[in-house]
Amino acid sequence: MILKNIRYLVTQNDDRQIIEDVDLLIHGDRIAGIGHQIPAGNHRIIDCSNKVVMPGLINAHTHVSMTLLRGISDNKELQDWLEEDIFPAEEKLEEEDAYIGALLGCMEMLTTGTTTFNDMYDHMDQVAEAVDQTGIRAMLGRGLLDVDGERDRRVDEAIELVESCRGHGRISTCFAPHGVYTASEQLLLEAKDCAEIFNTSYHIHVSETEKEVNDSIDENEKPPLEYLNELGLVNNDLIAAHGVWLTDKEKQIMAEKGGNVIHNPAANLKLGSGIADIPEIMEKEINVALGTDGVASNNNLNLFEEAKLASILHKRNNPEKINEQQILDMATINGAKALGLEDEIGSIELGKKADLITIDLDSPDMTPVHGKKGLISNIVYSFSGKVDDVVVDGEPVVQGGEVVKVGREKILKYAADLSEKFE
Ligand SMILES: [Zn+2]
Repeated sequence: MILKNIRYLVTQNDDRQIIEDVDLLIHGDRIAGIGHQIPAGNHRIIDCSNKVVMPGLINAHTHVSMTLLRGISDNKELQDWLEEDIFPAEEKLEEEDAYIGALLGCMEMLTTGTTTFNDMYDHMDQVAEAVDQTGIRAMLGRGLLDVDGERDRRVDEAIELVESCRGHGRISTCFAPHGVYTASEQLLLEAKDCAEIFNTSYHIHVSETEKEVNDSIDENEKPPLEYLNELGLVNNDLIAAHGVWLTDKEKQIMAEKGGNVIHNPAANLKLGSGIADIPEIMEKEINVALGTDGVASNNNLNLFEEAKLASILHKRNNPEKINEQQILDMATINGAKALGLEDEIGSIELGKKADLITIDLDSPDMTPVHGKKGLISNIVYSFSGKVDDVVVDGEPVVQGGEVVKVGREKILKYAADLSEKFE
């Protein structure tokens, strides 16, 4: 496949190079050539005149099956939201529902420019099926909790997931203890051991609310990240969602030992959890990526929207705190680093996986473009997120803004038909 006449190629390589009027060649699942006037030969051609081509976005923390729970509870803080509305809804969520929710979520992510997501939840076989069918890329982890005596079953399912996804070109796996308030010390250590044995990351909610921190101090005599550090879980394999209430000492621990913070500003604001001090965390050279969290707390999966929110949120007292390039990095290459996939995805470079999106410049929200800096500004601050084409693993999965591998109308109808069940 060859993408011809690309107006702007936003590479996100080490130099953050933007190349004008260029072609891009894809062989199989990888980027095989970037240059001017590459001969088309027998390759399938995608005409990219007056289009931007850039790396697909990476949603580094979500729960995709929760897309089915969109809008069921909008005015509660996290603990009440979970206990009064979400846990009861999840009790009704059966395998087939999780599958439909995941299809709906994958479709929403693809059509808004996300090509990879990192997911933690129940019914992960169904999520894997939806990932396989829609053509998106994902890192999946079975959520591990031991609040109800079902710990062993969940650990078994987590291991089975790792084994059943092995060899799938677009699915990687990790271990996903839910949080220090839902996973015991024994389970946290078990997840760490499993991650070491299977050579994966671990994905966990950390310091999302002030209550979580206070409860951890009461129970463990330490805030959550210090406690995880004591158990040996703070290193580059740690994918820590939220980090809203990280203490200075905890930020210092991460700066020294590694680990990734996933910033989910919409969910944190909507559940009244607070605002993570991302500029300060980034100053310590801790890797920060971006996530939407689940739709039940966002209420969508549009990572372009999240990027704008992240930026203006941290500019609120000082517009120099963060800039559009840092935000675009969080949504692309930093996400790849968080998932341990930076050699494969997150930028457009020779030999990397062909995971990319196109944006039509012939639309009001992308006009005018004031040079290369103005282009990044438009991508972060004015673009709606409605992408034109999406390629994942060298395969076209969205064309003209619509998914091509699954039936849009069918998924929408199945999901709509389930609405009464969760009202
Ligand atoms: Zn979450």
